[in-house]
Amino acid sequence: MKAVVFHQHGDERALQLTEFPEPSVGARDVLVRVKAVALNHLDLWVRQGWPGLKLELPHILGSDIAGIVARVGTEVTDLAPGTEVLVNPGLSCGACARCLSGEDNLCRSYRLIGEHVRGGYAEFISVPRQNILPKPSRLTFAEAACLPLTFLTAWTMLVHRAEVKPGETVLVHAAGSGVGSAAVQICKLLGAKVIATASTQEKLKQAQALGADHVINYSEKDFLDEVKRITERRLVDVVFEHVGASTFEKSVACLPYGGRLVTCGATAGHEVKLDLRVLFYKRISLLGSTMGSKGDLFRILQLVEEGRLKPVLDRTLPLADAPLAHELLKNRAHFGNLVLLPPSP
Ligand code: ZN
Repeated sequence: MKAVVFHQHGDERALQLTEFPEPSVGARDVLVRVKAVALNHLDLWVRQGWPGLKLELPHILGSDIAGIVARVGTEVTDLAPGTEVLVNPGLSCGACARCLSGEDNLCRSYRLIGEHVRGGYAEFISVPRQNILPKPSRLTFAEAACLPLTFLTAWTMLVHRAEVKPGETVLVHAAGSGVGSAAVQICKLLGAKVIATASTQEKLKQAQALGADHVINYSEKDFLDEVKRITERRLVDVVFEHVGASTFEKSVACLPYGGRLVTCGATAGHEVKLDLRVLFYKRISLLGSTMGSKGDLFRILQLVEEGRLKPVLDRTLPLADAPLAHELLKNRAHFGNLVLLPPSP
């Protein structure tokens, strides 16, 4: 099969389109013909590597996969070849207390397809049966591929961690990112008011189209000053963080007494300053979050099927253009998700 692999960590030039052996299919596995694979910022981190990351090289990136069942293992009896599916990217043991309590993302052996094991920048991928979800019928493969990681991450942050309530105000950073564009929609679904930030007028317009009530161009204006102005100094109940060092201190300053900050990422640096006096005196909650429970994706897909949440597809590129797609992602030249399309048979 054709696949985009990297033999060593590095910049986007490390990505190479090549012939690669088709994956083997275990008794309880499903071989999926990949029709679309969405990019995440995670792909850039994994490609660059970090101390302690041990991968079997060459590695194949790609966590968000939509495709067609090509073949099933001998013990898979409920899924026919030809079925259109979406792949749930979380792998866990399925037997521990966390897994059985619906907290599989807290399983000690939790891994992500495309991060710890080979992913979907390829014509085929083999995944366990329990990672297969039905593709929402109203979506194209490219649209469906935009859903799993971004929506599950944003859903878990807002619904389970920050527990956003109707009438609250949420500041969503970088609404043009995959996770940011999902967050705007989920906040609106929860009945919250959204203040969204982005770097260009065009992106702000798109954020408004997704439901943002107020927008801030952070490349032109100080977002803390703007939050104070928009809220008449009442500040925001929740800050949705995934930027990190360049925004964190001011994000904390956007919170009133009892405010919550929830974060899933640090694309702009992971070391931040925090005044503990502010934390305890203002009774602020700092909430970490990563991925989410496999079960929640069923709920998200139902809301997508009803048209209440929608994937945000920026553009599709051929699989061979993976290096270009990584460059676009790095330069934030997109709104929503970038998607790669493997060659059709
Ligand atoms: Zn487990």
